[in-house]
Amino acid sequence: MPRRYCLPPPAMTPEEFRKQGHALIDWIADYRAGLEPRPVMARTAPGEVRALLPAQPPEAPEPFEAILADLDRVVVPGLSLWQHPRFFGYFPSNSSLASVLGDLASTGLGVLGLAWQSSPALTEIEEVATDWLRQMVGLSPAWRGVIQDTASTSTLVALLCARERSSGYALARAGMQDGAAPLVVYASAHAHSSVDKAALLAGFGREHLRLIAHDAAYAMRADALEAAIVADLAAGRRPCAVVATTGTTSTTAIDPVAAIAAVAQRHGVWLHVDAAMAGSAMILPECRPLWDGIEGADSVVLNPHKWLGVAFDCSTYYVRDPQHLVRVMSTSPSYLQSAADAEVTNYRDWGLPLGRRFRALKLWFLIREQGVEGLRARLRRDLANAQWLADQVRATPGWRVLAPVPLQTVCVRHEPEGLAGDALDAYTQAWAQRLNRSGLTYLTPATLDGRWMVRVSIGAEATEREHVAAVWAAMQAEVRRG
Ligand SMILES: *Cc1c(COP(=O)(O)O)cnc(C)c1O
Repeated sequence: MPRRYCLPPPAMTPEEFRKQGHALIDWIADYRAGLEPRPVMARTAPGEVRALLPAQPPEAPEPFEAILADLDRVVVPGLSLWQHPRFFGYFPSNSSLASVLGDLASTGLGVLGLAWQSSPALTEIEEVATDWLRQMVGLSPAWRGVIQDTASTSTLVALLCARERSSGYALARAGMQDGAAPLVVYASAHAHSSVDKAALLAGFGREHLRLIAHDAAYAMRADALEAAIVADLAAGRRPCAVVATTGTTSTTAIDPVAAIAAVAQRHGVWLHVDAAMAGSAMILPECRPLWDGIEGADSVVLNPHKWLGVAFDCSTYYVRDPQHLVRVMSTSPSYLQSAADAEVTNYRDWGLPLGRRFRALKLWFLIREQGVEGLRARLRRDLANAQWLADQVRATPGWRVLAPVPLQTVCVRHEPEGLAGDALDAYTQAWAQRLNRSGLTYLTPATLDGRWMVRVSIGAEATEREHVAAVWAAMQAEVRRG
């Protein structure tokens, strides 16, 4: 006897979707237009959001209006507002509204890129959009791009490719367990934590990750890199990859790519450049000297989902030798093969996931809606705001700018007379926390040379000079209160 079942409620119809979708778009538009009076940093206590929700899922369908209403009741009060004009935390992660629509279109289409054949437009628009971006940042036509979810994934892919180049495709034999001499990875002590993570997950081991000394501007020293490679060679180890950073996380320090590329080439070492944040700045010809020598790299990652304005997630990974990438990443079972394979790109073989989102749409929408000139103008505004702030800080007694300001991040500290060491650390963290808890802004404190400082990371799409000035005034008022 067949089991009896209730008839399912109908799925949301396109007509209902039209109605609720309009309501949601209105809600997002109101939210974006009304950010300024809202507190920037979430003042949520741990568990507070969870406590607003029932522990069990609803048995009966709920009206869609009730679901949308919880955006205001539950969700927004539990968020730090990255799109707020006075958001100066971490790094800019702009979700430009044109790209939000691109993301919505991608989800609405509901297609997957498993192979070119499964959604040809998904692949070909990704090829075109990544090639547009390649031209925008001034990379030569020798590079091919692919969209990954994050820079963390891109850097893992880079180190896997480096490992396989150095080992002569050991993955097709005994992998990392063939007893050969250890492979070594090099990065600056200021490299992003995702570099550590990628090196560990790619099987190099902490013992074979070298953190190279930096200079007074927090940039990797190419001579120290050379010395480390020579020492490893003398000890019978195999130098494999170096990760240089264009725009480090704490201070946007710029590793000297040309000098590092020369060392890498001399020793046959893979060079991966992590330009996750600062890569966006390369759409400005005047910034390109910052990654001079980039053509000597083997791979580069930059995140359009940061400063450039593509809604998270969209990380572009560029390589000079796509055949090597595909050889490392491809497994091609028969059900994914097609007659067109010789003429098309199958992006599943350019990274880890098989199923791929149509991420190219949001990049494509943004570039078209803003034009390259529009994007350049916004980034130039942010660079000028950062220089303005740095000038104000330098000109004010008791305040210091702690690192060069090549881009949009200003690292500052207020140093009252007689305060040093741990007492200064406690003072810095206290005023930053008071300011963040006030709701006026969100600044992220971090350590530099073992001491706490405050990073002011400028570049939210909505941030104008007046917002930078307001936060600078609030910083000065806060330390007077302290
Ligand atoms: C943000 C950032 C990362 C990590 O980016 P994800 O896309 O979040 O993985 C890595 N490196 C640098 C320099 C960054 O600024």
